[in-house]
Parts: sequence; structure tokens; C-alpha cells
Amino acid sequence: MTRPAIAIDLGGSHAKIAVVQVDKLLAAHEVSLDSAEKLRPALDVFAQAVRELLAELHLNAADCQGVALGFCGLADARIGRVVSTNKKYEDAPSIDFRAWSQQEFELPFAIENDARMALLGEQHVGAARGCDNVVMITLGTGIGGAAMIEGKLLRGKHAQAGCLGGHLPAKVGGRPCTCGAIGCLEAEASGWALPYIAREWDGFAHSDLAKCETINFRALFELAAAGDRIAEEILQHCLNVWATGAVGLIHAYDPERIVIGGGVMRRADVILPYIQNYVNAHAWTPWGKVEIVAAQLGNDAGLFGATPLLTGIV
Ligand SMILES: [Zn+2]
Repeated sequence: MTRPAIAIDLGGSHAKIAVVQVDKLLAAHEVSLDSAEKLRPALDVFAQAVRELLAELHLNAADCQGVALGFCGLADARIGRVVSTNKKYEDAPSIDFRAWSQQEFELPFAIENDARMALLGEQHVGAARGCDNVVMITLGTGIGGAAMIEGKLLRGKHAQAGCLGGHLPAKVGGRPCTCGAIGCLEAEASGWALPYIAREWDGFAHSDLAKCETINFRALFELAAAGDRIAEEILQHCLNVWATGAVGLIHAYDPERIVIGGGVMRRADVILPYIQNYVNAHAWTPWGKVEIVAAQLGNDAGLFGATPLLTGIV
């Protein structure tokens, strides 16, 4: 019987602390955080939350296999540390998490980038179960990614391999991206970029998008469905960017399946068939067709990555 795992999923504005066992979320607690603040004081909050969850479940720390942290930046699982934080929790690279876990719970500790944790979760008990060659993309405010090849999570020398799928260049002469590159998937079709894309679109002033208080994908899908020509054009652009990115990821990583998650996937009914058809027509996969599927675990995917990460099967 697999022992329960303590899982912490750290995002830019909140953390979810949970005890998971294979495909079951035994208990969870969410806390709000400010990513501009230091992470070190938050570890005390996490430790307290873990103790409360264990008490609620009548478990001791010794009953668990370890503590796993999914981090919203580059982390190196091999050394158990954060490598780079991109303006979030800037003290994180200086923290010795293994020592913290040992001191608080006398348990082993594992850390991984949050997108890789989500892929691990989906591969362990979600949409990629039984599939050893898989790429995951999350479409949201940004675009995240991770890749697994022959059952091994792709990490690379600097712990950034496979993580930067959202920063694959998709358009020559495209929009500047926050990462320093130009025409990235993120810069061309993500939540943060959408208002800029829309306002610069030819004919924007005549679109109902111009009347929206917030230009987001929900509004874009609704207006496109209602026949707003500019919204249709922009949506078509975004679908093409995502589909182009999917082909790039297939050619780079040779997956059998691409799992797509993130908030934009509320319209999976439009997105999945579009990308599947595009990939069928344009990806070079003489062995067959790459399946394009929706993520199944939602925001909890990273928590379910704790068990395979700690088990060391990846
Ligand atoms: Zn970029």
C-alpha cells in the first residue's frame, strides 16, 4: 500500500497544502500568500497546516512517505532547491528545504517545478495514465509546459528543459515577450497578452471587445460565438498559435499524447478538436496520430504529482 504523501502546491498568490494517497485527496488546506514577500516565513505556515491536516486524519508524520513541493519557478529536483524565481519569492533559492523538512517532520523532501508536478500528477492518476511519452501544456494567464520521454521527466542540465513550452517562438516578427524572446506562444495567445493583442488588432474599435471592461478568453469566446468578426479573427489567431505550438512540441519531444490544462480549457469543446485536426494535418508522425486530450485533475494535478516524485519513479 502506498503511504500518503504531504503535498504543497505553491502558486504566485496562494499555496495548497494537502495529504494525498495515490488518486485520493485525503485532506487539503489553502492559504493566501503574497509572492512579493519572502517564502521563508511562509514555511512556518505550511508546517502548521501540515500538522493540522495530519491531526485531522489521525496520522503521524512518520506514516507519510515525505514532503513534496511544487514551485512556481525553476527548481532542481536533484538538489532539492529552487534555481530561479522570476520575481516571485526571491529568497527561495537560499532556502534549504530538505533541512526544513527534516527539522519539522523528519521526512524526506522533494521539489519540482509546478508544471512538471502537474504532468506527473496527470501521468500518475489523470489524463496521461499509462502513457510514458507525454507533453503537458497549460493555457491560462501564461502558458506552462512539461515533457516526459520514455517515462522520464525531462529536466536538462539547468533544470529548465521542457518547462519553457510557452516560450517556443510561434511567430516571426511577433509581439515581444516578457522572457526576452519575440513571438512566443505566451506573447501571441495567453491571458496576459490578450488585451494587448486585441487593442492592436485592425478594426478593434468596431468590435464589442472594445466595450469589455476586461478583455479575457471568456469574453473572446462569447463574442466570437455571437458573430463578432474581430473576436472571430483573434480567436482564430489564438487557436492557430496553440496548434502551431502543439506541432512544435510534438516535433521536439515525440509524445504519444498532449494533455492540455489551464483555465482557457473551459472551452475544450472548441480548442481540442481544432488542435487535434491541425496536428493530424501538420505534425510529422509517421507512426500514427498524437492524441490531444484535456487534463483531468484541474488545479489538484500538482498535488497528485507528489507521490511519483517522492517515490522516485521518475
Ligand atoms: Zn517568451
